[in-house]
Amino acid sequence: MKDCVFCSILEGKIPSQRYYEDERFIVIKDIEPKAKLHYLAIPKKHYKLLSEMNDSDRDDLGHIMSTISQIAPKLGLDGGYRLVINQGDDAGQTVFHLHIHILGGQKMDFPEL
Ligand code: 5GP
Ligand code: ZN
Repeated sequence: MKDCVFCSILEGKIPSQRYYEDERFIVIKDIEPKAKLHYLAIPKKHYKLLSEMNDSDRDDLGHIMSTISQIAPKLGLDGGYRLVINQGDDAGQTVFHLHIHILGGQKMDFPEL
């Protein structure tokens, strides 16, 4: 997708270290970390929004979620982690290519969540 920062990262036009990669998604570090460890899991297929996914696309999300739990120790997340998806303006989504925030490396500041 033209003018999409995550598509540019996926295409290698913007260099980034990949902490994990398979045929469906990559894991990189967030450029502006909001926790001691802040990764982004980015599907290789450009979904603008979570709400854009259809039933078969949801396999991608299931695969990403279960793989994150398998690779968490390698990412330094043995103590636990929080997954966040921002959907749309009210949630503060700024990059319109679906991604899952993986936050950890510390106790989270929002225990009410
Ligand atoms: P959103 O607010 O859409 O849920 O999250 C977008 C995230 O992408 C933000 O946390 C932001 O810091 C991160 N981000 C934006 N541009 C880049 C980039 O070029 N590289 C990386 N690694 N992260 C980015
Ligand atoms: Zn994209």
